Amino acid sequence: MAVDTATGPMQGKLVVRNIGLLLSGDLGRPILDADTIVAVDGRITAIGKAKAIDADKPDVVIDAKGCTMAPGLIDSHCHPVFGDWTPRQNQLGWIDSCVNGGVTTFVSAGEVHLPGRPKDPLGVKALAITAQRTFANFRPSGAKIIAGAPVPEKTMGEEDYAELARAGVAMIGEIGLGTVNTGPEARKHVAWCRKHGIQTIIHTGGPSIPGSNLISHEVVLEADPDVISHINGGHTALASGHICQLCEQAKGAIEIVHNGNEKAAIVALRTAIELKRTHEVIIGTDAPAGSGVQPLGILRTIAFLASFGGVAPETVLCMATGNTARVRKLDAGLIEAGKPADFVFLDRAQHTSGKTLLDSMALGDLPGIGMVVIDGMVRCGRSRNTPPAERIPEVVEH
Ligand SMILES: [Zn+2]
Repeated sequence: MAVDTATGPMQGKLVVRNIGLLLSGDLGRPILDADTIVAVDGRITAIGKAKAIDADKPDVVIDAKGCTMAPGLIDSHCHPVFGDWTPRQNQLGWIDSCVNGGVTTFVSAGEVHLPGRPKDPLGVKALAITAQRTFANFRPSGAKIIAGAPVPEKTMGEEDYAELARAGVAMIGEIGLGTVNTGPEARKHVAWCRKHGIQTIIHTGGPSIPGSNLISHEVVLEADPDVISHINGGHTALASGHICQLCEQAKGAIEIVHNGNEKAAIVALRTAIELKRTHEVIIGTDAPAGSGVQPLGILRTIAFLASFGGVAPETVLCMATGNTARVRKLDAGLIEAGKPADFVFLDRAQHTSGKTLLDSMALGDLPGIGMVVIDGMVRCGRSRNTPPAERIPEVVEH
């Protein structure tokens, strides 16, 4: 297995031309009227029609061949441990597999699968800081892994969060995977985190695996976290009425995951849209997990929510890119000048019955990925994991 660990960014000028459809990641304007993009030193500098853009003297040219281009997908909820290995299912290379599924940024919801994970405050802090540091230095296939997400334990106090914040830890792992699992306890830890600028998330629903806890809608409401992690359960969901109540009353972002309850996902999606909270819906996989590692988990969730949820695919794609970037405070997720050149090129899967890429996704088919670019560097060509795309981009001589 060849895993490219060069971090980038690309040095020089990248021009992408002949883009058939450009998806922005921004719910306010999901489709851009442009066919050309220029990026310099790994960041987007210009977006527009070929004639109006200075595409002279490129170092690299990608001919998109009429494919759709979108921001690299973001997994708002995954569980990395160390390296490109997961002890949960004893798998190697899962991150590289997910890059082949269009994911360019991964956000840890806790490094909880580490065998023998420490639970004393010093051990919890040491693990989080180590995970944050190791993944800042290690980027399999160029992937950006935002890790270092300590799981709150009852024995931790405000000074522990202050120390974590000083060390550069910006988020916690899921409340509820440790010993903090009641409303009053959770609320106390959320308040400490908030005071020190640490983002908070909470496991929602029944226990995921033996040893984790039920977190009810009452606990979520009392805790008041920044993100309601897997509102559709991970995997066991709350009752529909309680999911609706969370969408109505909880202030945290509404996260839907692949490794959750599908019916509950549709309830949450529809309720969020009715309540005009579409911009707060974000998407994750919750992988690796008991149900495995799904390299196409984010794509599958997009196609599922578009088809069964009846929401335009370009809107759902914003939930997996721009929404997540805003909620999780990431420098990613948008096709916009100044943003990193993290791109996924998509086209209709061969033999789909959908007439266009977006039609095919609305029918529930997965798109084919033809190329993934991170920080301006080509990280994979035709995906080894998606159904084959009809057309794929090419790096051309110029
Ligand atoms: Zn969970």
